[in-house]
Amino acid sequence: MAVRRRIIRQMQAATEQVAVAPSSSPPRGAKPRSGIMRQYDLVERVRSYNPDTDEDLLNRAYVYAMKAHGAQTRASGDPYFSHPLEVAAILTALKLDDATIVAALLHDTIEDTEATRAEIDQIFGHEIGALVEGLTKLKRLELVSREAKQAENLRKLLLAIADDVRVLLIKLADRLHNMRTLEFVPPASRRRIAEETLDIYAPLAGRMGMQEMREELEDLSFRTLDPEAYAVVKQRLDALAERNRNLIGEIESQLSKNLQKNGVVAHVYGRRKKPFSIWTKMERKSVGFEQLSDIFGFRIVLDNVEACYRALGVVHTTWPVVPGRFKDYISTPKQNDYRSIHTTVIGPGNQRVELQIRTEDMDQIAEFGIAAHAFYKDGVGSPTELLKRESNAFAWLRHTVGILSESANPEEFLEHTKLELFHDQVFCFTPKGRLIALPRHANVIDFAYAVHTDVGNSAVGCKINGKFAPLSSELTNGDEVEVLTSKAQSAPPSAWESLARTGRARAAIRRATRTAVRDQYAGLGRRIVERLFARAKIEYADDKLKGALPRLARTSIEDVMASVGRGEIKASDVARAMYPDYKEERVAARYGAKKGLAAKLKQAQPHHPARSASVIPVGGLGKADLPIKFAPNGGAVPGDRIVGIITPGEGITIYPIQAPALKDFEEEPERWLDVRWDIDETTPQRFPARIRVDNVNEPGSLAQVATVIAEHDGNIDNISMSRRSPDFTELTIDLEVYDLKHLSAIIAQLRAKAVVARVERVNG
Ligand code: MN
Repeated sequence: MAVRRRIIRQMQAATEQVAVAPSSSPPRGAKPRSGIMRQYDLVERVRSYNPDTDEDLLNRAYVYAMKAHGAQTRASGDPYFSHPLEVAAILTALKLDDATIVAALLHDTIEDTEATRAEIDQIFGHEIGALVEGLTKLKRLELVSREAKQAENLRKLLLAIADDVRVLLIKLADRLHNMRTLEFVPPASRRRIAEETLDIYAPLAGRMGMQEMREELEDLSFRTLDPEAYAVVKQRLDALAERNRNLIGEIESQLSKNLQKNGVVAHVYGRRKKPFSIWTKMERKSVGFEQLSDIFGFRIVLDNVEACYRALGVVHTTWPVVPGRFKDYISTPKQNDYRSIHTTVIGPGNQRVELQIRTEDMDQIAEFGIAAHAFYKDGVGSPTELLKRESNAFAWLRHTVGILSESANPEEFLEHTKLELFHDQVFCFTPKGRLIALPRHANVIDFAYAVHTDVGNSAVGCKINGKFAPLSSELTNGDEVEVLTSKAQSAPPSAWESLARTGRARAAIRRATRTAVRDQYAGLGRRIVERLFARAKIEYADDKLKGALPRLARTSIEDVMASVGRGEIKASDVARAMYPDYKEERVAARYGAKKGLAAKLKQAQPHHPARSASVIPVGGLGKADLPIKFAPNGGAVPGDRIVGIITPGEGITIYPIQAPALKDFEEEPERWLDVRWDIDETTPQRFPARIRVDNVNEPGSLAQVATVIAEHDGNIDNISMSRRSPDFTELTIDLEVYDLKHLSAIIAQLRAKAVVARVERVNG
């Protein structure tokens, strides 16, 4: 959000320097609300591109819908019928067939009026009836807002469209008109509708190649969701366009003239970019716009492909080319059927000029996408049949619907599909030739999970086109990918979650690491519990713990162990739950009530060894005068230089000389006391210490650390973890060692481990 504020401020500042003509004309999309379109006007619009239109059918639909909606009104106060009529009008601009126009007129009748499917079938035929029913189903799904429901909607939407793509075209026109009239809807639903439009309908329009529709949907959503940013961008855009008005005409005519001189007939025109696309670019790249090329693109539209390349030749020999900007989507069309040549030159007026060079047909497809294929073509069969043969976009749709049947979880599906909507795909193969379609920028991890969750979870390496490569390698079209797996790896490194690009892979990694982490904690907890029981010489048995579960407020033994591993409950709590007597001994030990009992607990209590005997004050005070305890959170171990701090009424607390906590007593020298170690070499005793370990996030890495400590005879009392980055976990480990040499040896062994990035001792 900080970026957003900064951009708005910059733009406001920049705008103030320009004489701004107040923009009085409404945005292109928002048509002034004049009277309702006449029956005759609609028929005329259709006839202009389809001379053979069934006028009678159109007239019947017009009258039927008008009567059905009767006196219903919209939120704006307009007669309800104005809505289906406008939707139909939007579709005439896409030059769609009669059935589509009629279905648009009728699209809200089954849901909102007395009309029935049977009646519509009877009057308008089965084809139109099926279209209207498809739209009715969608509308019923649309009254909800939550993510899961949204996912479910999208799913149903795509399933419905897969039957007949005209359902999508009508749905998009319906959404466009609703967005154009969004101001009349209550603010709360306004936001939801705009978000849904930006998330689903705009990308869907884009994926179907309908750029004009996509841009208008995006802009209307942007205006609703972020009015401040929209206004600022719009104002600045208007100001720059105004300032460059003459230059734009100049560039158009110079381009035309130069092409003509070289015998190329072309239609050249400049086109303003939309606020939303400028805004997203500014957010993405943290740049402002100053150049004309930032807000204007120029198109050169020609008769045929050959003329396109000739025009390119003329442009490139007339003006200097900006390197790295040339793209030929004519020879290699985009996945959504888009074809065009892109290039940027330093053109007339020394301006950077972005050019799109293409034929009339390509231009139609670039603007109208899948709808361009559906153009009414006499005697070529139904538009849907036509689409199936000609359109890549429709093939994508079919593919996506295929995924639907495999995806059990609506959220996952939504994540997956959103990604797919925004990105073009790459197609890769398994060694056996199975096709795996992934969103662009996907890597081998995504590939592995797309093949099978088990393959993803156990992936340890890969070969791309026969060569070893890292699992994070981005895939390109046509790659043959062999995933190498290992049974030893039961769960993927959690860091993969941020590497994966597909929702499917991310969700699977999350699931697998969650389980693996829990298992690690449970294993650790069990180790701690068993050790405590062994020392206390009490018997541990799963069955006995099962009986104690209610007292620990846990539902399973695994739960208890994981809680101990996480440090939520102590091993001694477990002992107490199983052996109520245990508590008494422990309390007695802490306060050293009876000598005999305390001696016994020297072994029984790993958490609180009776250590007061191991340190004696130097000089003045006698050993028995004051109770001696060690500082909490990583105290001193033999070998450390130590100091005692006297707390009246409590006793002496022993700190290692390097403990930061000693700073608190600097002002009170009277409390400082010289002390020295008094170790009985014949009965080795353990002392608590604390270390901090930066551990690489990998399955089993925690276990490796625990094993090193155990193998070197250190006792782990407690481990707490905090995640510092996707790659590292910070472990704070309380352990018991014999002395400084012992502790140093353990630290050195830990440092030698690959999974350990850093180890340091901590003194509380
Ligand atoms: Mn509607």
